[in-house]
Amino acid sequence: GATIGIIGGGQLGRMLAMAAARLGYRTIVLDPEPACPAAQLANETLVAAYDDVAALARLVGHCDIVTYEFENVPVEPLRLAVQAVPLHPSADALEIAQDRVVEKAFLNGIGVATAEWRAIDSAAELDHALIQLGGEAILKTRRLGYDGKGQATIRKDAPLADVFESLGGVPSILEKRVPFAYECSVIGARGTDGTIAVFDPAENVHGLGILRCSTVPGKITDDVAREAKDIASRILERLQYVGVIGVEFFVDADGGLLVNEIAPRVHNSGHWTEAACVISQFEQHIRAVAGLPLGAPARHSDCVMENLIGDEVKRAASLLTEPAVLVHLYGKAEARAGRKMGHFTRLTGPANC
Ligand code: ATP
Ligand code: MG
Ligand code: MG
Repeated sequence: GATIGIIGGGQLGRMLAMAAARLGYRTIVLDPEPACPAAQLANETLVAAYDDVAALARLVGHCDIVTYEFENVPVEPLRLAVQAVPLHPSADALEIAQDRVVEKAFLNGIGVATAEWRAIDSAAELDHALIQLGGEAILKTRRLGYDGKGQATIRKDAPLADVFESLGGVPSILEKRVPFAYECSVIGARGTDGTIAVFDPAENVHGLGILRCSTVPGKITDDVAREAKDIASRILERLQYVGVIGVEFFVDADGGLLVNEIAPRVHNSGHWTEAACVISQFEQHIRAVAGLPLGAPARHSDCVMENLIGDEVKRAASLLTEPAVLVHLYGKAEARAGRKMGHFTRLTGPANC
């Protein structure tokens, strides 16, 4: 059978490896950590840094297709190494999603609304941009942020130079704070033949910048669902994307949508699909990158997915006794604070759609 290379061996890589195995593919995971979550599930693990061109070339030499599970894979080494086999999603899509300024400029350029924003390269620019945007704002590093890391809320009392320096004084973006009614996300996929399939949106609740739970359908109205799916489809189309994408939205009280960010990979807010859809986001991604037909994205059940973070993994014992709950643990040894250890999805009833 064919072999799929997966760059990144976290829980997302692990769940991709599981889905690939079920469709008869071999997987090789590249990760600097030999005991990464995906290493237990992949056929082979290549232990190397993500920007190690020689290791990437070795991966390419043993694979028929290459994909990745996180958006911070350095693009240039990847472009250099991955020429002989298809890379899905493309390096171009990855590059856009890696930089919040490039990402928002792309979205606005295809007519997709975001929070108002300004690129910030110095404390003086921050001062100026804050006046232009007016109101409350959030400073984020352009690159490498996840789970709310690399972000600072602007407070009236703190000197702006300190805020800029607190993020490392690196190129940043200032975003107007959006007074959203709730957040939601859409997991979409586009196949090599251009077919698009989009799962139903999930309502997301975050705590301390980390996703806590995703509810389907939650507060999401049919109109908001339709609009969110349309926007995700437009992004997939305009990027000529292949694979699964996550699109995060802010929804206002009138059902107006702004895109927060896009993730060129399977997404935490799509984990519910493994319990409430016939084809999960993980299998959908494997199908897409391998050139197979996409699965139908319809859900059979309403559900709630909750992350098990740090110590919360202890809840698994009692969750396992519940009838309509799917528990998924990532095999991580140490339950450090803030670490995603697993998740569970509770089916809450048949879907009315
Ligand atoms: P992820 O783990 O999803 O990649 P991240 O570190 O890239 O997270 P964001 O998605 O930009 O971070 O922000 C995390 C959360 O912070 C958002 O889901 C939202 O709850 C809040 N947030 C971010 N930007 C804004 C904004 N402009 N206005 C209001 N809330 C915001
Ligand atoms: Mg992000
Ligand atoms: Mg986010």
